[in-house]
Amino acid sequence: MSQNSPYQQLQNQLEQVVEELEITPSVFQILKEPKHVVRISIPLQRDDGTVETYTGYRSLHSDLLGPGKGGIRFHPNVNEDEVMALSVWMTMKTAILKLPFGGAKGGIQVDPNDLSKRELQELSRQYIRMLEHVIGPQKDIPAPDVNTNGRIMGWMLDEFTRLRGRNVPGFITGKPPVIGGSEGRVEATGRGVVVTILRALEKMDMEKKGAKVAIQGFGNVGSVTAKRLNEEGLKVVAVADVNGMLYDEEGIDVLELCEYVEENGSIEGFQNQELKPSDGIFETDCDIFIPAALENVITSETAPKLKASIVAEAANGPTTGDGDHILKERDIFVIPDILCNSGGVMVSAFEWMQNDSHDHWEKDFVVQRLDKDLSEAFREVYKISQEKNIAMRKAAYQVAVNRLSDAMYERGWVE
Ligand code: GLU
Repeated sequence: MSQNSPYQQLQNQLEQVVEELEITPSVFQILKEPKHVVRISIPLQRDDGTVETYTGYRSLHSDLLGPGKGGIRFHPNVNEDEVMALSVWMTMKTAILKLPFGGAKGGIQVDPNDLSKRELQELSRQYIRMLEHVIGPQKDIPAPDVNTNGRIMGWMLDEFTRLRGRNVPGFITGKPPVIGGSEGRVEATGRGVVVTILRALEKMDMEKKGAKVAIQGFGNVGSVTAKRLNEEGLKVVAVADVNGMLYDEEGIDVLELCEYVEENGSIEGFQNQELKPSDGIFETDCDIFIPAALENVITSETAPKLKASIVAEAANGPTTGDGDHILKERDIFVIPDILCNSGGVMVSAFEWMQNDSHDHWEKDFVVQRLDKDLSEAFREVYKISQEKNIAMRKAAYQVAVNRLSDAMYERGWVE
């Protein structure tokens, strides 16, 4: 692992948190490495009869508070370092939210757009076949992440059911409701992002009506966030995806844009508008900036350009260490990823509970509980940040690590 790998940076961050909390360094020793990381080579027979091999991973960082939990992403940049870091962030999220889970993450290094539907289904099933020994409803529970969705979860559930010879719905979350998924799971991450933004606006005494928003990334999380913010009266003025940026000072017609993207897969061509370069999103005049795509986009280069007073990290790990430094210096209020985007795993927990008790909750109940529990987590983190005069990110890590440390003590792992 190179000195400046994201995982190394995350380890340094954890070490610092343990030091600042003045708890035993043994806690860091336990948190610094995942419990296991499994790497697999998945041979896939392509439609033309040739075989291609894809690399896949599953990292179980911690099962201290319960079975591992975390999504599976399909992306050409998936690598071991990234999957490990993503699994640590899951441990932090579940600890902050007091969920009965640890942290895990998986992925396949593949561009799903290069595969036919049959190939995609076969690759998804193979992934489960090859990892069957490390996953399960009391061991490690997958879910959707970048470029994976309910359809893929359904194939994976079916494969696991075949392997075990019985239906095990609680082995995976993010399933379509008809096969045991939870109402509200698809929108959960975006909804959660909006809950944390509304709480932040209240704390900062900022008016939500007409507050200007720029969103980088318009997949599931970006689009749901945009729709919900629009419903709350905020104004989405800029949206960027890989192809470029849309900007409208008066506010983009978010509902129409969501419909368009659903059909066309990109914002490109929307209302025949000419796209501006994607990078322009970082300089857009706005009150709230939302990175909702991948890691490492708020850097020493982009952080000085941001005009927003709130950054809401809908993506996992969107801010580099250097970028974070600059945000702090500039006094920008950051809702850290491990809090901001944790609505997804929260509703995954609701799904797992419903599967366990053979129950099906109404959507209103799911939404209300998400709102209530996430607002409570926000308040806890905010309180620490005020009391100790530290940034929200540090406060969030402190809440998580404190809880993990208490659990280690009670289990007799540390003194
Ligand atoms: N992939 C989502 C995340 O990064 C959800 C994980 C889950 O529901 O287990 O939080």
